[in-house]
Amino acid sequence: MMAHSKALLVLENFIGGKFVPCSSYIDSYNPSTGDVYCRVPDSGKEEVEAAVKAAKVAFPIWSSKSPLERSQILNKLADLIERDLEAFAQAESKDQGKTITFARTVDIPRAVYNFRFFASSILHHTTECTEMATMSCMHYTSRTPVGVAGLISPWNLPLYLLTWKIAPAIACGNTVVAKPSEMTSVTAWMMCKLLEKAGVPHGVVNVVFGTGARAGEALVCHPDVPLISFTGSTLTAQRITEKSAPHCKRLSLELGGKNPAIVFDDADLLQCIPTTLRSSFANQGEICLCTSRIFIQRGIYSEFLKRFVAEAKKWKVGNPSDPTVDVGALISKEHLEKVRSYVKKAQAEGARVLCGEGVDSLALPTGNQKGYFMLPTVIAEVKDESCCMQEEIFGPVTCVVAFDTEEEVIERANSVKYGLAATVWSSNVGRVHRVAQRLQAGLVWTNCWLVRDLNLPFGGMKASGIGREGAKDSYEFFTEVKTITIKH
Ligand code: NAD
Repeated sequence: MMAHSKALLVLENFIGGKFVPCSSYIDSYNPSTGDVYCRVPDSGKEEVEAAVKAAKVAFPIWSSKSPLERSQILNKLADLIERDLEAFAQAESKDQGKTITFARTVDIPRAVYNFRFFASSILHHTTECTEMATMSCMHYTSRTPVGVAGLISPWNLPLYLLTWKIAPAIACGNTVVAKPSEMTSVTAWMMCKLLEKAGVPHGVVNVVFGTGARAGEALVCHPDVPLISFTGSTLTAQRITEKSAPHCKRLSLELGGKNPAIVFDDADLLQCIPTTLRSSFANQGEICLCTSRIFIQRGIYSEFLKRFVAEAKKWKVGNPSDPTVDVGALISKEHLEKVRSYVKKAQAEGARVLCGEGVDSLALPTGNQKGYFMLPTVIAEVKDESCCMQEEIFGPVTCVVAFDTEEEVIERANSVKYGLAATVWSSNVGRVHRVAQRLQAGLVWTNCWLVRDLNLPFGGMKASGIGREGAKDSYEFFTEVKTITIKH
Protein backbone atom coordinates (compact mmCIF):
# COMPACT_ATOMS: atom_id res chain seq x y z
CA MET A 1 0.00 0.00 0.00
CA MET A 2 1.32 3.48 -0.79
CA ALA A 3 1.83 6.34 1.66
CA HIS A 4 -1.12 8.73 1.78
CA SER A 5 -0.19 12.39 1.87
CA LYS A 6 -3.63 14.00 1.90
CA ALA A 7 -6.50 13.15 4.24
CA LEU A 8 -8.43 10.33 2.63
CA LEU A 9 -12.15 9.92 2.41
CA VAL A 10 -13.03 6.85 4.49
CA LEU A 11 -16.30 5.07 3.79
CA GLU A 12 -18.27 2.92 6.22
CA ASN A 13 -20.81 0.21 5.67
CA PHE A 14 -24.45 1.15 6.21
CA ILE A 15 -26.19 -1.54 8.24
CA GLY A 16 -29.50 -1.31 10.09
CA GLY A 17 -29.65 2.46 9.61
CA LYS A 18 -26.17 3.10 11.04
CA PHE A 19 -22.74 3.71 9.57
CA VAL A 20 -20.45 0.96 10.80
CA PRO A 21 -16.64 0.93 10.46
CA CYS A 22 -14.95 -2.14 9.04
CA SER A 23 -11.85 -3.94 10.33
CA SER A 24 -10.01 -3.67 7.00
CA TYR A 25 -10.08 -1.33 4.00
CA ILE A 26 -9.06 -1.21 0.35
CA ASP A 27 -7.70 1.76 -1.58
CA SER A 28 -9.83 3.51 -4.16
CA TYR A 29 -8.21 5.61 -6.90
CA ASN A 30 -9.12 8.84 -8.62
CA PRO A 31 -8.82 7.64 -12.25
CA SER A 32 -8.06 11.11 -13.58
CA THR A 33 -4.95 11.59 -11.39
CA GLY A 34 -3.94 8.06 -10.48
CA ASP A 35 -3.96 9.01 -6.75
CA VAL A 36 -5.51 7.02 -3.94
CA TYR A 37 -8.13 9.32 -2.47
CA CYS A 38 -10.59 7.07 -0.69
CA ARG A 39 -10.65 3.96 1.48
CA VAL A 40 -13.45 1.47 1.03
CA PRO A 41 -14.44 -1.19 3.59
CA ASP A 42 -13.15 -4.62 2.63
CA SER A 43 -16.25 -6.39 3.92
CA GLY A 44 -16.58 -10.14 4.13
CA LYS A 45 -18.92 -12.75 5.57
CA GLU A 46 -19.26 -11.07 8.96
CA GLU A 47 -20.41 -7.72 7.55
CA VAL A 48 -22.76 -9.38 5.06
CA GLU A 49 -24.20 -11.48 7.87
CA ALA A 50 -24.94 -8.34 9.93
CA ALA A 51 -26.52 -6.61 6.91
CA VAL A 52 -28.74 -9.58 6.04
CA LYS A 53 -29.82 -9.82 9.66
CA ALA A 54 -30.80 -6.12 9.68
CA ALA A 55 -32.69 -6.56 6.39
CA LYS A 56 -34.57 -9.57 7.77
CA VAL A 57 -35.62 -7.64 10.89
CA ALA A 58 -36.89 -4.74 8.75
CA PHE A 59 -38.79 -6.92 6.27
CA PRO A 60 -42.08 -7.54 8.17
CA ILE A 61 -42.69 -3.84 8.78
CA TRP A 62 -41.60 -2.60 5.36
CA SER A 63 -43.44 -5.28 3.42
CA SER A 64 -46.67 -4.54 5.29
CA LYS A 65 -46.65 -0.86 4.29
CA SER A 66 -49.02 0.07 1.50
CA PRO A 67 -47.58 0.73 -1.97
CA LEU A 68 -48.65 4.36 -1.52
CA GLU A 69 -46.64 4.75 1.69
CA ARG A 70 -43.59 3.22 0.05
CA SER A 71 -44.10 5.37 -3.02
CA GLN A 72 -44.10 8.56 -0.94
CA ILE A 73 -40.80 7.58 0.68
CA LEU A 74 -39.21 6.81 -2.69
CA ASN A 75 -40.32 10.20 -4.00
CA LYS A 76 -38.79 11.92 -0.98
CA LEU A 77 -35.52 10.14 -1.55
CA ALA A 78 -35.59 11.23 -5.20
CA ASP A 79 -36.12 14.85 -4.10
CA LEU A 80 -33.18 14.69 -1.70
CA ILE A 81 -30.80 13.26 -4.30
CA GLU A 82 -31.97 15.90 -6.75
CA ARG A 83 -31.40 18.62 -4.16
CA ASP A 84 -27.78 17.41 -3.87
CA LEU A 85 -27.38 16.69 -7.60
CA GLU A 86 -24.26 18.79 -8.03
CA ALA A 87 -22.45 17.17 -5.07
CA PHE A 88 -23.39 13.70 -6.33
CA ALA A 89 -22.25 14.55 -9.87
CA GLN A 90 -18.89 15.89 -8.64
CA ALA A 91 -18.36 12.77 -6.54
CA GLU A 92 -19.32 10.39 -9.36
CA SER A 93 -16.98 12.13 -11.78
CA LYS A 94 -14.07 12.04 -9.34
CA ASP A 95 -14.64 8.42 -8.32
CA GLN A 96 -15.28 6.96 -11.78
CA GLY A 97 -13.33 9.23 -14.13
CA LYS A 98 -16.40 10.16 -16.20
CA THR A 99 -16.87 13.75 -17.30
CA ILE A 100 -18.71 16.08 -14.97
CA THR A 101 -21.07 16.84 -17.85
CA PHE A 102 -22.05 13.17 -18.20
CA ALA A 103 -22.50 12.76 -14.44
CA ARG A 104 -24.62 15.94 -14.28
CA THR A 105 -26.80 15.19 -17.27
CA VAL A 106 -27.05 11.39 -17.27
CA ASP A 107 -25.95 9.52 -14.14
CA ILE A 108 -27.47 11.51 -11.31
CA PRO A 109 -30.67 12.69 -13.07
CA ARG A 110 -31.34 9.06 -13.96
CA ALA A 111 -30.72 7.92 -10.37
CA VAL A 112 -33.33 10.47 -9.28
CA TYR A 113 -35.68 9.32 -12.01
CA ASN A 114 -35.25 5.64 -11.07
CA PHE A 115 -36.82 6.37 -7.67
CA ARG A 116 -39.57 8.58 -9.14
CA PHE A 117 -40.34 6.05 -11.85
CA PHE A 118 -40.79 3.08 -9.51
CA ALA A 119 -42.58 5.28 -6.94
CA SER A 120 -45.17 5.82 -9.63
CA SER A 121 -45.23 2.45 -11.37
CA ILE A 122 -45.76 0.51 -8.12
CA LEU A 123 -49.16 2.19 -7.83
CA HIS A 124 -50.42 0.92 -11.16
CA HIS A 125 -49.98 -2.84 -11.25
CA THR A 126 -53.00 -5.09 -11.42
CA THR A 127 -53.29 -8.80 -10.84
CA GLU A 128 -55.23 -11.42 -12.82
CA CYS A 129 -58.61 -12.97 -12.16
CA THR A 130 -60.49 -15.73 -14.01
CA GLU A 131 -63.81 -17.43 -13.38
CA MET A 132 -64.85 -21.06 -13.80
CA ALA A 133 -68.63 -20.76 -13.65
CA THR A 134 -69.26 -24.50 -14.08
CA MET A 135 -67.10 -25.26 -11.02
CA SER A 136 -68.40 -22.26 -9.05
CA CYS A 137 -64.84 -21.09 -8.73
CA MET A 138 -62.90 -17.95 -9.28
CA HIS A 139 -59.13 -17.71 -9.38
CA TYR A 140 -56.99 -14.68 -8.79
CA THR A 141 -53.31 -13.94 -8.47
CA SER A 142 -51.66 -12.11 -5.65
CA ARG A 143 -48.11 -10.75 -5.53
CA THR A 144 -45.97 -10.43 -2.43
CA PRO A 145 -42.38 -9.27 -1.90
CA VAL A 146 -39.76 -12.03 -1.88
CA GLY A 147 -37.70 -11.05 1.18
CA VAL A 148 -34.10 -9.85 1.36
CA ALA A 149 -32.81 -8.96 -2.10
CA GLY A 150 -29.08 -9.07 -2.85
CA LEU A 151 -28.10 -6.34 -5.33
CA ILE A 152 -24.68 -6.26 -7.01
CA SER A 153 -23.71 -3.45 -9.38
CA PRO A 154 -20.74 -2.49 -11.61
CA TRP A 155 -18.48 0.58 -11.83
CA ASN A 156 -19.47 2.16 -15.14
CA LEU A 157 -22.72 3.90 -14.10
CA PRO A 158 -22.42 3.55 -10.33
CA LEU A 159 -25.42 5.29 -8.73
CA TYR A 160 -27.54 5.00 -11.89
CA LEU A 161 -27.37 1.20 -11.98
CA LEU A 162 -27.50 0.67 -8.23
CA THR A 163 -30.69 2.73 -7.89
CA TRP A 164 -32.17 0.92 -10.93
CA LYS A 165 -32.15 -2.11 -8.60
CA ILE A 166 -32.79 -0.55 -5.17
CA ALA A 167 -35.84 1.42 -6.35
CA PRO A 168 -37.94 -1.49 -7.72
CA ALA A 169 -36.77 -3.85 -4.96
CA ILE A 170 -37.96 -1.63 -2.11
CA ALA A 171 -40.98 -0.30 -4.01
CA CYS A 172 -42.22 -3.90 -4.12
CA GLY A 173 -41.74 -4.26 -0.34
CA ASN A 174 -38.44 -6.15 -0.21
CA THR A 175 -35.55 -5.09 1.99
CA VAL A 176 -32.10 -5.07 0.42
CA VAL A 177 -28.41 -5.65 0.91
CA ALA A 178 -26.57 -3.84 -1.86
CA LYS A 179 -22.95 -4.21 -2.86
CA PRO A 180 -21.67 -1.55 -5.26
CA SER A 181 -18.42 -2.00 -7.16
CA GLU A 182 -15.38 -1.64 -4.93
CA MET A 183 -14.00 0.79 -7.51
CA THR A 184 -16.94 3.22 -7.31
CA SER A 185 -18.53 3.20 -3.87
CA VAL A 186 -18.73 6.87 -2.95
CA THR A 187 -22.14 7.92 -4.30
CA ALA A 188 -23.84 4.85 -2.77
CA TRP A 189 -22.37 5.89 0.59
CA MET A 190 -23.62 9.47 0.04
CA MET A 191 -27.10 8.14 -0.75
CA CYS A 192 -27.13 6.23 2.57
CA LYS A 193 -26.81 9.57 4.38
CA LEU A 194 -30.17 10.63 2.93
CA LEU A 195 -32.19 7.51 3.71
CA GLU A 196 -33.31 8.42 7.19
CA LYS A 197 -34.42 11.91 6.15
CA ALA A 198 -36.42 10.40 3.31
CA GLY A 199 -38.22 8.18 5.82
CA VAL A 200 -36.67 4.85 4.78
CA PRO A 201 -36.89 2.76 7.98
CA HIS A 202 -33.66 1.33 9.41
CA GLY A 203 -32.65 -1.94 7.81
CA VAL A 204 -34.65 -1.51 4.60
CA VAL A 205 -31.56 -0.48 2.62
CA ASN A 206 -28.22 -1.84 3.78
CA VAL A 207 -25.04 -1.23 1.82
CA VAL A 208 -21.98 -3.39 2.25
CA PHE A 209 -18.81 -2.24 0.48
CA GLY A 210 -16.01 -4.46 -0.69
CA THR A 211 -14.73 -6.75 -3.39
CA GLY A 212 -16.69 -9.24 -5.42
CA ALA A 213 -14.62 -12.15 -4.22
CA ARG A 214 -15.32 -11.46 -0.53
CA ALA A 215 -18.41 -9.27 0.00
CA GLY A 216 -20.13 -10.17 -3.28
CA GLU A 217 -19.70 -13.87 -2.89
CA ALA A 218 -20.77 -13.83 0.77
CA LEU A 219 -24.01 -12.19 -0.37
CA VAL A 220 -24.54 -14.62 -3.24
CA CYS A 221 -23.97 -17.60 -0.92
CA HIS A 222 -26.08 -16.33 1.98
CA PRO A 223 -28.98 -18.74 2.57
CA ASP A 224 -31.35 -15.97 3.68
CA VAL A 225 -31.02 -14.00 0.44
CA PRO A 226 -33.38 -15.73 -2.00
CA LEU A 227 -32.84 -13.36 -4.89
CA ILE A 228 -29.82 -11.78 -6.58
CA SER A 229 -30.02 -8.95 -9.09
CA PHE A 230 -26.64 -8.58 -10.76
CA THR A 231 -25.24 -6.22 -13.39
CA GLY A 232 -21.69 -6.83 -14.52
CA SER A 233 -19.57 -9.06 -16.69
CA THR A 234 -20.58 -12.41 -18.16
CA LEU A 235 -17.65 -14.10 -16.41
CA THR A 236 -18.80 -12.96 -12.97
CA ALA A 237 -22.37 -13.97 -13.82
CA GLN A 238 -21.18 -17.53 -14.49
CA ARG A 239 -19.53 -17.61 -11.07
CA ILE A 240 -22.65 -16.19 -9.39
CA THR A 241 -24.83 -18.76 -11.13
CA GLU A 242 -22.59 -21.58 -9.90
CA LYS A 243 -22.37 -20.28 -6.34
CA SER A 244 -26.09 -19.66 -6.01
CA ALA A 245 -27.14 -22.96 -7.60
CA PRO A 246 -27.17 -24.98 -4.35
CA HIS A 247 -29.74 -22.50 -2.99
CA CYS A 248 -31.85 -22.37 -6.21
CA LYS A 249 -31.81 -18.58 -6.06
CA ARG A 250 -33.79 -16.35 -8.34
CA LEU A 251 -31.33 -14.51 -10.58
CA SER A 252 -31.51 -11.47 -12.81
CA LEU A 253 -28.32 -11.09 -14.84
CA GLU A 254 -27.58 -7.95 -16.90
CA LEU A 255 -24.28 -8.58 -18.66
CA GLY A 256 -21.89 -7.44 -21.35
CA GLY A 257 -22.43 -6.67 -25.01
CA LYS A 258 -20.70 -6.45 -28.39
CA ASN A 259 -23.24 -4.18 -29.94
CA PRO A 260 -23.43 -3.63 -33.70
CA ALA A 261 -24.52 -0.48 -35.52
CA ILE A 262 -25.71 -1.24 -39.06
CA VAL A 263 -25.65 1.70 -41.45
CA PHE A 264 -27.44 1.18 -44.78
CA ASP A 265 -26.62 3.37 -47.76
CA ASP A 266 -29.94 5.26 -47.44
CA ALA A 267 -29.14 6.33 -43.84
CA ASP A 268 -29.32 9.99 -42.87
CA LEU A 269 -25.65 10.50 -42.10
CA LEU A 270 -26.29 13.90 -40.55
CA GLN A 271 -28.11 12.07 -37.74
CA CYS A 272 -26.18 8.84 -37.89
CA ILE A 273 -22.61 10.12 -37.56
CA PRO A 274 -22.99 12.23 -34.38
CA THR A 275 -25.17 9.58 -32.76
CA THR A 276 -22.77 6.77 -33.64
CA LEU A 277 -19.88 8.80 -32.25
CA ARG A 278 -21.83 9.09 -28.99
CA SER A 279 -22.81 5.44 -29.03
CA SER A 280 -19.13 4.50 -29.49
CA PHE A 281 -17.39 6.92 -27.13
CA ALA A 282 -19.87 8.27 -24.54
CA ASN A 283 -18.70 7.63 -20.98
CA GLN A 284 -15.30 6.55 -22.47
CA GLY A 285 -17.11 3.69 -24.23
CA GLU A 286 -17.79 2.23 -20.79
CA ILE A 287 -21.52 1.61 -21.25
CA CYS A 288 -22.80 -1.91 -21.82
CA LEU A 289 -24.93 -0.47 -24.66
CA CYS A 290 -22.03 1.19 -26.50
CA THR A 291 -21.49 0.39 -30.15
CA SER A 292 -18.25 -1.43 -30.86
CA ARG A 293 -18.85 -2.87 -34.34
CA ILE A 294 -20.02 -0.50 -37.09
CA PHE A 295 -21.18 -2.19 -40.29
CA ILE A 296 -21.35 0.25 -43.23
CA GLN A 297 -22.93 -0.59 -46.58
CA ARG A 298 -20.20 -0.51 -49.21
CA GLY A 299 -21.62 2.38 -51.28
CA ILE A 300 -21.14 4.86 -48.41
CA TYR A 301 -18.21 3.18 -46.65
CA SER A 302 -15.47 5.66 -47.65
CA GLU A 303 -17.68 8.70 -47.16
CA PHE A 304 -18.82 7.48 -43.70
CA LEU A 305 -15.30 6.64 -42.60
CA LYS A 306 -13.89 9.99 -43.68
CA ARG A 307 -16.56 11.96 -41.85
CA PHE A 308 -16.66 9.69 -38.79
CA VAL A 309 -12.89 9.80 -38.22
CA ALA A 310 -12.75 13.57 -38.74
CA GLU A 311 -15.44 14.01 -36.07
CA ALA A 312 -13.87 11.47 -33.68
CA LYS A 313 -10.66 13.48 -33.72
CA LYS A 314 -12.58 16.49 -32.39
CA TRP A 315 -13.56 14.71 -29.17
CA LYS A 316 -11.63 16.38 -26.37
CA VAL A 317 -9.95 14.08 -23.85
CA GLY A 318 -8.83 15.48 -20.52
CA ASN A 319 -9.66 16.55 -16.99
CA PRO A 320 -13.18 15.18 -16.29
CA SER A 321 -14.09 18.22 -14.20
CA ASP A 322 -13.60 20.51 -17.22
CA PRO A 323 -17.10 20.97 -18.70
CA THR A 324 -15.67 21.25 -22.24
CA VAL A 325 -14.15 17.76 -22.06
CA ASP A 326 -15.92 14.92 -23.92
CA VAL A 327 -13.88 11.91 -22.77
CA GLY A 328 -12.73 11.45 -19.18
CA ALA A 329 -10.49 8.80 -17.65
CA LEU A 330 -11.00 5.05 -17.85
CA ILE A 331 -11.78 3.32 -14.59
CA SER A 332 -8.35 1.86 -13.74
CA LYS A 333 -4.79 1.38 -14.90
CA GLU A 334 -5.45 -2.31 -15.50
CA HIS A 335 -8.54 -1.60 -17.55
CA LEU A 336 -6.70 1.02 -19.63
CA GLU A 337 -3.96 -1.52 -20.37
CA LYS A 338 -6.56 -4.11 -21.34
CA VAL A 339 -8.32 -1.72 -23.73
CA ARG A 340 -4.99 -0.67 -25.27
CA SER A 341 -3.98 -4.29 -25.73
CA TYR A 342 -6.98 -4.83 -28.04
CA VAL A 343 -5.76 -2.03 -30.31
CA LYS A 344 -2.30 -3.63 -30.44
CA LYS A 345 -3.80 -7.03 -31.26
CA ALA A 346 -5.84 -5.53 -34.09
CA GLN A 347 -2.74 -3.88 -35.54
CA ALA A 348 -0.80 -7.14 -35.27
CA GLU A 349 -3.60 -8.82 -37.26
CA GLY A 350 -3.26 -6.27 -40.05
CA ALA A 351 -6.13 -3.91 -39.18
CA ARG A 352 -5.73 -0.16 -39.69
CA VAL A 353 -6.02 2.25 -36.75
CA LEU A 354 -7.45 5.40 -38.31
CA CYS A 355 -7.29 7.67 -35.29
CA GLY A 356 -6.59 7.57 -31.57
CA GLU A 357 -4.38 5.11 -29.71
CA GLY A 358 -0.89 4.85 -31.13
CA VAL A 359 -1.72 7.18 -34.04
CA ASP A 360 -2.46 10.59 -32.53
CA SER A 361 -0.82 12.20 -29.56
CA LEU A 362 -2.66 12.88 -26.35
CA ALA A 363 -1.89 16.14 -24.55
CA LEU A 364 -3.04 16.09 -20.93
CA PRO A 365 -3.15 18.89 -18.33
CA THR A 366 -0.29 18.80 -15.77
CA GLY A 367 -2.44 17.40 -12.96
CA ASN A 368 -3.70 14.53 -15.11
CA GLN A 369 -0.47 13.08 -16.45
CA LYS A 370 -0.85 9.94 -14.33
CA GLY A 371 -4.54 9.49 -15.12
CA TYR A 372 -5.92 6.62 -17.19
CA PHE A 373 -6.73 8.43 -20.43
CA MET A 374 -7.07 7.26 -23.99
CA LEU A 375 -8.12 8.91 -27.24
CA PRO A 376 -11.25 7.74 -29.09
CA THR A 377 -9.94 5.08 -31.43
CA VAL A 378 -11.37 3.92 -34.76
CA ILE A 379 -10.12 0.69 -36.33
CA ALA A 380 -10.89 -0.43 -39.89
CA GLU A 381 -10.33 -3.62 -41.85
CA VAL A 382 -10.77 -5.89 -38.85
CA LYS A 383 -11.73 -9.50 -39.55
CA ASP A 384 -15.04 -10.66 -38.09
CA GLU A 385 -13.29 -13.46 -36.20
CA SER A 386 -10.75 -11.09 -34.60
CA CYS A 387 -11.01 -10.71 -30.82
CA CYS A 388 -11.68 -6.99 -31.41
CA MET A 389 -14.89 -7.95 -33.23
CA GLN A 390 -15.84 -10.76 -30.84
CA GLU A 391 -14.98 -9.68 -27.30
CA GLU A 392 -16.30 -6.82 -25.22
CA ILE A 393 -13.57 -4.13 -25.05
CA PHE A 394 -15.52 -1.65 -22.88
CA GLY A 395 -13.46 1.39 -23.81
CA PRO A 396 -13.35 4.18 -26.43
CA VAL A 397 -12.59 1.80 -29.30
CA THR A 398 -14.84 1.03 -32.23
CA CYS A 399 -14.32 -1.16 -35.32
CA VAL A 400 -15.68 -0.16 -38.74
CA VAL A 401 -16.25 -2.74 -41.49
CA ALA A 402 -18.02 -2.79 -44.87
CA PHE A 403 -20.94 -5.02 -45.94
CA ASP A 404 -22.91 -5.57 -49.14
CA THR A 405 -26.34 -7.08 -48.48
CA GLU A 406 -29.04 -7.07 -45.81
CA GLU A 407 -28.89 -10.85 -45.45
CA GLU A 408 -25.11 -10.80 -45.03
CA VAL A 409 -25.07 -8.07 -42.40
CA ILE A 410 -27.72 -9.73 -40.24
CA GLU A 411 -25.68 -12.90 -40.14
CA ARG A 412 -22.46 -11.06 -39.34
CA ALA A 413 -24.08 -8.86 -36.69
CA ASN A 414 -25.44 -11.99 -34.99
CA SER A 415 -22.15 -13.88 -35.14
CA VAL A 416 -20.95 -13.05 -31.62
CA LYS A 417 -21.76 -14.67 -28.29
CA TYR A 418 -23.46 -11.50 -26.98
CA GLY A 419 -26.93 -10.16 -27.72
CA LEU A 420 -27.55 -6.97 -25.76
CA ALA A 421 -28.27 -4.06 -28.11
CA ALA A 422 -28.10 -3.10 -31.79
CA THR A 423 -28.65 0.05 -33.83
CA VAL A 424 -30.02 0.14 -37.38
CA TRP A 425 -29.73 3.20 -39.64
CA SER A 426 -31.93 3.36 -42.76
CA SER A 427 -34.76 5.49 -44.12
CA ASN A 428 -36.55 2.39 -45.48
CA VAL A 429 -39.30 1.56 -42.95
CA GLY A 430 -39.77 -1.97 -44.23
CA ARG A 431 -36.08 -2.68 -43.91
CA VAL A 432 -35.70 -1.39 -40.36
CA HIS A 433 -38.59 -3.60 -39.24
CA ARG A 434 -37.23 -6.65 -41.07
CA VAL A 435 -33.71 -6.24 -39.75
CA ALA A 436 -34.83 -5.40 -36.19
CA GLN A 437 -36.92 -8.59 -36.10
CA ARG A 438 -33.98 -10.77 -37.03
CA LEU A 439 -31.22 -9.26 -34.91
CA GLN A 440 -30.34 -11.27 -31.81
CA ALA A 441 -30.45 -8.41 -29.31
CA GLY A 442 -32.66 -7.51 -26.37
CA LEU A 443 -32.84 -3.89 -27.56
CA VAL A 444 -32.82 -2.59 -31.13
CA TRP A 445 -32.71 1.14 -31.81
CA THR A 446 -33.47 2.35 -35.30
CA ASN A 447 -32.21 5.80 -36.35
CA CYS A 448 -31.41 6.65 -32.71
CA TRP A 449 -29.49 5.33 -29.70
CA LEU A 450 -30.10 5.10 -25.95
CA VAL A 451 -33.67 6.34 -26.08
CA ARG A 452 -35.31 4.41 -23.26
CA ASP A 453 -38.86 4.03 -21.97
CA LEU A 454 -38.36 2.48 -18.53
CA ASN A 455 -41.78 0.86 -18.80
CA LEU A 456 -40.51 -1.59 -21.39
CA PRO A 457 -38.22 -4.59 -20.93
CA PHE A 458 -34.46 -4.04 -20.72
CA GLY A 459 -32.02 -6.93 -20.95
CA GLY A 460 -29.93 -9.13 -23.17
CA MET A 461 -30.09 -12.36 -25.14
CA LYS A 462 -27.39 -15.05 -25.30
CA ALA A 463 -24.35 -14.25 -23.11
CA SER A 464 -25.72 -10.75 -22.44
CA GLY A 465 -28.05 -11.86 -19.73
CA ILE A 466 -30.99 -13.65 -18.24
CA GLY A 467 -34.21 -11.87 -17.34
CA ARG A 468 -35.47 -8.39 -18.07
CA GLU A 469 -35.84 -5.21 -16.04
CA GLY A 470 -38.51 -2.51 -16.46
CA ALA A 471 -41.82 -1.53 -14.88
CA LYS A 472 -43.59 -4.88 -15.25
CA ASP A 473 -40.47 -7.04 -15.49
CA SER A 474 -38.85 -5.67 -12.33
CA TYR A 475 -42.20 -5.97 -10.51
CA GLU A 476 -42.41 -9.61 -11.53
CA PHE A 477 -38.78 -10.29 -10.57
CA PHE A 478 -39.02 -8.66 -7.15
CA THR A 479 -42.32 -10.31 -6.18
CA GLU A 480 -43.65 -13.84 -5.74
CA VAL A 481 -46.88 -14.64 -7.51
CA LYS A 482 -49.51 -16.89 -6.01
CA THR A 483 -52.71 -18.22 -7.57
CA ILE A 484 -55.64 -18.36 -5.15
CA THR A 485 -58.84 -20.28 -5.92
CA ILE A 486 -62.13 -19.51 -4.17
CA LYS A 487 -65.15 -21.83 -4.43
CA HIS A 488 -68.43 -20.07 -3.83
P1 NAD B 1 -17.73 -7.26 -12.81
O1 NAD B 1 -18.49 -8.45 -13.20
O2 NAD B 1 -16.26 -7.37 -12.65
O3 NAD B 1 -18.25 -6.68 -11.42
C1 NAD B 1 -19.61 -6.33 -11.21
C2 NAD B 1 -19.93 -6.41 -9.74
O4 NAD B 1 -19.83 -7.79 -9.34
C3 NAD B 1 -18.97 -5.65 -8.83
O5 NAD B 1 -19.70 -5.11 -7.76
C4 NAD B 1 -18.03 -6.74 -8.35
O6 NAD B 1 -17.41 -6.45 -7.11
C5 NAD B 1 -18.98 -7.91 -8.22
N1 NAD B 1 -18.37 -9.24 -8.26
C6 NAD B 1 -17.21 -9.60 -8.86
N2 NAD B 1 -16.97 -10.91 -8.64
C7 NAD B 1 -17.98 -11.38 -7.88
C8 NAD B 1 -18.31 -12.65 -7.34
N3 NAD B 1 -17.52 -13.71 -7.51
N4 NAD B 1 -19.45 -12.78 -6.63
C9 NAD B 1 -20.27 -11.72 -6.45
N5 NAD B 1 -20.00 -10.49 -6.93
C10 NAD B 1 -18.89 -10.32 -7.64
O7 NAD B 1 -18.11 -6.13 -13.85
P2 NAD B 1 -17.52 -4.67 -13.93
O8 NAD B 1 -16.15 -4.76 -14.52
O9 NAD B 1 -17.74 -3.96 -12.65
O10 NAD B 1 -18.53 -3.98 -14.99
C11 NAD B 1 -18.36 -4.03 -16.35
C12 NAD B 1 -19.23 -5.10 -16.95
O11 NAD B 1 -20.58 -4.85 -16.62
C13 NAD B 1 -19.18 -5.08 -18.48
O12 NAD B 1 -19.15 -6.41 -18.95
C14 NAD B 1 -20.50 -4.42 -18.86
O13 NAD B 1 -20.97 -4.74 -20.14
C15 NAD B 1 -21.40 -4.93 -17.80
N6 NAD B 1 -22.57 -4.09 -17.68
C16 NAD B 1 -23.79 -4.55 -18.10
C17 NAD B 1 -24.92 -3.76 -18.03
C18 NAD B 1 -26.27 -4.25 -18.47
O14 NAD B 1 -27.26 -3.64 -18.06
N7 NAD B 1 -26.38 -5.30 -19.26
C19 NAD B 1 -24.81 -2.46 -17.52
C20 NAD B 1 -23.55 -2.00 -17.12
C21 NAD B 1 -22.44 -2.83 -17.19
